Amino acid sequence: MNTATTVNQADNLLDLKMVAKAYRLEAKEFLAVRDVNLCIKPGEFVCLLGPSGCGKSTLLRIIAGLNSATSGTVSYHGLPLKGVNPYTTIVFQTFALYPWLTVQENVEIALKARGVPTAERSQRALKLIDIVGLDGFESAYPRELSGGMRQKVGFARAMAVEPELLCLDEPFSALDVLSAEALRGELMELWLNKKIPTKAILMVTHNIEEAVFMADRIVIMGKDPGHIVTEIAVTLRHPRHHKDTAFQNLVDKVYAAVAGQSKPKEEALGTQPGQPGVTRPLPHSQLNALAGLLEKLVDEGGRVDLYRMGRDLVLELDDLLPIVEAGDLLGFTTVQEGDLLLTPLGRAYADASILARTLAGYCLDLRNAPARR
Ligand code: ADP
Ligand code: MG
Repeated sequence: MNTATTVNQADNLLDLKMVAKAYRLEAKEFLAVRDVNLCIKPGEFVCLLGPSGCGKSTLLRIIAGLNSATSGTVSYHGLPLKGVNPYTTIVFQTFALYPWLTVQENVEIALKARGVPTAERSQRALKLIDIVGLDGFESAYPRELSGGMRQKVGFARAMAVEPELLCLDEPFSALDVLSAEALRGELMELWLNKKIPTKAILMVTHNIEEAVFMADRIVIMGKDPGHIVTEIAVTLRHPRHHKDTAFQNLVDKVYAAVAGQSKPKEEALGTQPGQPGVTRPLPHSQLNALAGLLEKLVDEGGRVDLYRMGRDLVLELDDLLPIVEAGDLLGFTTVQEGDLLLTPLGRAYADASILARTLAGYCLDLRNAPARR
């Protein structure tokens, strides 16, 4: 890659200004993201964090030049991006490896696509395989590897092209907990010790702890349509430890920002069905999940730390937020500074008999409930 002519370390690598993306669905336009301003500087590890459907992957595709923005500007090294961005690569959740090629051949193929001469390919592929910790597996086929190992081949293949900006789209979310943790640690090792020439990393995740563990800056997104809510700097020193108080405090702060943005604004609450105006749909969460959440809240004395509850109930952000939002919409709970609070109505509902709740369930049209407080 020719970096000498274009790279100025003081420059932002990437600059998005007022980026919007609309998808055309049949005859209609659907706005996926709007007003996105984002810049990435050399040396930064930035996480994009937000619920499913808020446009995280859309932004990555725009940055990689695989999709174009509908409006706004995308610049790389200060120049407008045209076509595919040669300085980036995306690692996806499940890296598509060629099943009929060995580990080494799967990495070499990326080098071949970049025009690296045959003689050099094997040497570079072997080095990368070693870097990601797959030494000894060069001749293995993807089917012989665990999910974590396959994703390592994915990383090796992405790194083969020496991207200046490495884009990762939920790269650990398809892995089991232990493999994900190991691979996160290995990526941080490579990144912090500058074992890879990558200048910046942009990672999409919906895992708050993962973002706090890895990033220098967390960009929080909300949806309908996708937009940036806020940014939180992470200045904790590496290696970071999940149990440290400072780590936990930051996780709380991020939870508060994420949960806060799902809270409906007063004016957005809507009207009764049949009345003029907008009715606000309830998020697609099950009433019994909400009942479970209310019971947990009663057990905890009416107030609980959202982050701790998500962990106790083993709920991902994408599962937890719609339930929290439903509780808020029905007036059963409210969110305050990352804590979830039970309202008197919520307590009455939680205390009601199963029969009463079932009846209440029938009364609540989950798809199109009126907004109540
Ligand atoms: P995320 O990665 O945050 O889950 P996406 O960027 O994949 O979100 O999607 C954002 C929104 O755009 C979603 O509502 C999704 O359904 C929609 N979307 C994504 N890709 C397309 C597409 N190619 N055509 C139409 N709609 C799309
Ligand atoms: Mg996505």
